[in-house]
Amino acid sequence: MPERQSSLACQACGARFEVHDDRWCCDCGGYLDLEFEARIDPAVLAGRPWGMWRYREAIPIDFGQEPVSFGEGATPLVPMNWEGRLVYVKLEMLFPTGSFKDRGASVAMTRAVGMGVRRVVEDSSGNAGCAASAYAALAGLDCEIFVPGDASAAKVSQVAAYGARVVRVEGTREDAARAARASVTSGTYYASHVWDPFFLHGTKTMAFEIWEQLGGLVPDMLLVPTGNGSLLLGAYLGFSDLRRQGLARRLPRLVGVQAAECAPLVRRFRDEPHRGAWGPTRADGIAVADPLRWKQILASVWDTGGDIVEVTEQQIDRAQEAAARRGLLIEPTSAAGLAAIEVVSPPGDACVVVPLTGHGLKSLRE
Ligand SMILES: *Cc1c(COP(=O)(O)O)cnc(C)c1O
Ligand SMILES: [Zn+2]
Repeated sequence: MPERQSSLACQACGARFEVHDDRWCCDCGGYLDLEFEARIDPAVLAGRPWGMWRYREAIPIDFGQEPVSFGEGATPLVPMNWEGRLVYVKLEMLFPTGSFKDRGASVAMTRAVGMGVRRVVEDSSGNAGCAASAYAALAGLDCEIFVPGDASAAKVSQVAAYGARVVRVEGTREDAARAARASVTSGTYYASHVWDPFFLHGTKTMAFEIWEQLGGLVPDMLLVPTGNGSLLLGAYLGFSDLRRQGLARRLPRLVGVQAAECAPLVRRFRDEPHRGAWGPTRADGIAVADPLRWKQILASVWDTGGDIVEVTEQQIDRAQEAAARRGLLIEPTSAAGLAAIEVVSPPGDACVVVPLTGHGLKSLRE
């Protein structure tokens, strides 16, 4: 494969760094993005096995090694009758750890191995920690997951089962994140689903799959549960890659979905102030009070003519139950995407895709 130039770029100050630089943020404190030209060749794809690594020329890793992969991806895209209208659900809960975060973890751990580190850290109250732990186990790397005091017991048990060390940090999710970052020294990879741009070049493979599964078309709209934006931003990257390659004429309207109890992106998108604290929500996977990449999320949604909407706890409960009655067991965070259909009410003939982001087996109540 010919060598392609790519670099890390800070969106805040414009600084550029070499792609193999082991920094996880800019000197100015800004987050980094990848400048990289993805390639997708339908003729090449035709001969490849299913799975997210069939798009490897679109994933910014120059291979000296095999990907850290279970052969994951290629999740089904299934038409479903949802309250009288046709929607396509993408079964992203069917990953080895039960959520789409495996897409990002597979790419991040592949880079970690390529960088020659021995230890990876991540902070997460849930699925991102599970994904990092499982892929670190596969790669044979030591893994530490920093979790806030109130992290879900089921997910912390899952992290521990993979052999990762769970570091409980009293305080908020942000306190856990700060502690994780403070522990990053040379020889450690910060496999953050929030900071690491490589993670987003893993989640973007969902867009390529949807495009292939729809016979080379992009949907009109994608409804994505959104907290830190790792799936929404990935979808934006992936569909943008397809358009740049001339394989899609337009982008789908991206609609970020938040819980009304924690909806900072909705407020920012509508330019409305928010006062006071956010409440608790069952959609804990998207309960992010201060998302790092919020400007990027807003700009991406804006560029597609999309929207950011909120759903109530009641709507989330109803959607979770309705999905289960169709045989799809999903966690509340994931149900937020389905709940948004009645809020957005897309035109009847619109092609709407809803990724079902996380498995319900993780969130069954006693
Ligand atoms: C992480 C997660 C999301 C949201 O991802 P963000 O990166 O926070 O936007 C949605 N659903 C599930 C099940 C998740 O685990
Ligand atoms: Zn900078």
